[in-house]
Amino acid sequence: MIIDTQQVENGSHISADVAIVGAGPAGLSIARALAESGARIVLLESGGTRVEDAPQELNSGVDGGTIARPGHLQTSRRRVVGGATQLWGGWCRPLDEHDFRVRSWVPHSGWPFAKAILAPYYRHAAEMLEIEAFERADGTKLALPGPYILGKSEPLVQHVYQVSPTKDARLGKRWLASLARAENVQVLLHATALELEANESSSLVKQLDVGYLDGKRITVASKHVVLAMGGIENARLLLNSQGREATGLGNRHDVVGRYYMEHPWIKAAGGLVIVGAPPVYQGFEDEYHDNRSWRFPALAIAPEVQERFELMNFRARLEPIAPAAAPPLQRAIAKTLTRLKSTRSGAGPQFFQLDVSSEQSPNPESRLTLADSKDAFGKRQARLNWRLTDFDNRTVRKSLAIIARELGRWQIGRAQNALDEHGPWPLHTSGACHHMGGTRMHADPKQGVVDPDCRVHGVANLFIAGSSVFPTGGVANPTFTIVALGLRLADYLKRELKPA
Ligand SMILES: Cc1cc2nc3c(=O)[nH]c(=O)nc-3n(C[C@H](O)[C@H](O)[C@H](O)COP(=O)(O)OP(=O)(O)OC[C@H]3O[C@@H](n4cnc5c(N)ncnc54)[C@H](O)[C@@H]3O)c2cc1C
Repeated sequence: MIIDTQQVENGSHISADVAIVGAGPAGLSIARALAESGARIVLLESGGTRVEDAPQELNSGVDGGTIARPGHLQTSRRRVVGGATQLWGGWCRPLDEHDFRVRSWVPHSGWPFAKAILAPYYRHAAEMLEIEAFERADGTKLALPGPYILGKSEPLVQHVYQVSPTKDARLGKRWLASLARAENVQVLLHATALELEANESSSLVKQLDVGYLDGKRITVASKHVVLAMGGIENARLLLNSQGREATGLGNRHDVVGRYYMEHPWIKAAGGLVIVGAPPVYQGFEDEYHDNRSWRFPALAIAPEVQERFELMNFRARLEPIAPAAAPPLQRAIAKTLTRLKSTRSGAGPQFFQLDVSSEQSPNPESRLTLADSKDAFGKRQARLNWRLTDFDNRTVRKSLAIIARELGRWQIGRAQNALDEHGPWPLHTSGACHHMGGTRMHADPKQGVVDPDCRVHGVANLFIAGSSVFPTGGVANPTFTIVALGLRLADYLKRELKPA
């Protein structure tokens, strides 16, 4: 059932088994998985079914950090059903096995469980996102359907990505439709969670204070509360919930908002010319007769090479460039190579731009705090201080150098690396809008906000979903893992709700 502002009475109170705050992919996937259980679910969403100025303005805040990105808190998020998937590219890929491990050269790295724990949930997430399983139950792995440049070079590995068709269908509307039919689910639109009210010892959330932009206020009491408001708002609501604790709920050890991470992203960090080789496989939608999803590859560094050089995870995507649009240097190289290879038959030159993205190291100084400025409800806005370190910079530069050297060694082309091995971040460095880490998972409450079950340390009925719980972010785009983790949390809550 969907309930919008005009159907709500000021001062009313709702009770539920599970209250989920936020209808992005995290909240929607949990609500969908729980709907089948018959439990009474309330899903609160600050926006409606289309983007509107007033709720969107609630996303404003103060941007800052190593790289200037004015307006980032606004442009990278949407207050609407579906959340930031209104903007997303649909790229899906699980985290790698070594992303879950503690790596001695990456401070604060590692998850409290291995990737295998997520395996069944990754398969379920693939169904929900309408893509193929990356690893089937029998252990077979998803491969690329076409030939690819790789396969001969030990330091490099190939990452396979899939693009979810829910990207075009607008995931939010599609997933909301199935919830609208469920009698045990109430979806409250334009309902903004303002504060979590805890009991005296802060060990339980008693109720949620909820506001509407027309001035109405309601309260929601629930056996369990799940925050699924995105990588920034999850931390902000905890910090703004100061009724019992001056520094915010779940923040006794000053971890909320710390370890904030994104995936540093540099377009055109290098170039590549290939001559006399079969067309490099890029992945095309029309290769799929059932038109479900499409795949594409990226180049990455093998885990043992990452360890040898003390690097983090990294990928380079080969973006094709039309020959006429290729930079003059690349065209000159192609001409020379074509002349040298004139005795061999082969296709014409292929030109690429190398777009790179990498893992960011977990860093307690990279953090979200509260700004002095306030939103329309009088709640303090978020202040973002996204800090990148020399280690993050070295990972990008060294990894690209390894890839460029290897591509050159293959004798089929030449790579140009626009980044030397030392130097500051290039001016066009950005983040891939993947907001991770502000409420990180760790078994030790001094090092994490949530435990391995996604429960806020010390608050028995409060859980967090989304990439804010990632303790390390790998290089894969996060939403596939967000959905898998959400499905795991839904399973956990189903067990908790079962009568003893
Ligand atoms: C340009 C762009 C491209 C991207 N491309 C990809 C990609 O290709 N692949 C990928 O994996 N990821 C991609 N992402 C990231 C992806 O969109 C996010 O990982 C994903 O949307 C996060 O899901 P979420 O549910 O945790 O949070 P969100 O999507 O942010 O959803 C949170 C929801 O909570 C609601 N909310 C917030 N505060 C409150 C409150 N106080 N009360 C009630 N409701 C509230 C919001 O309105 C929103 O609907 C991209 C992001 C951007 C910006």
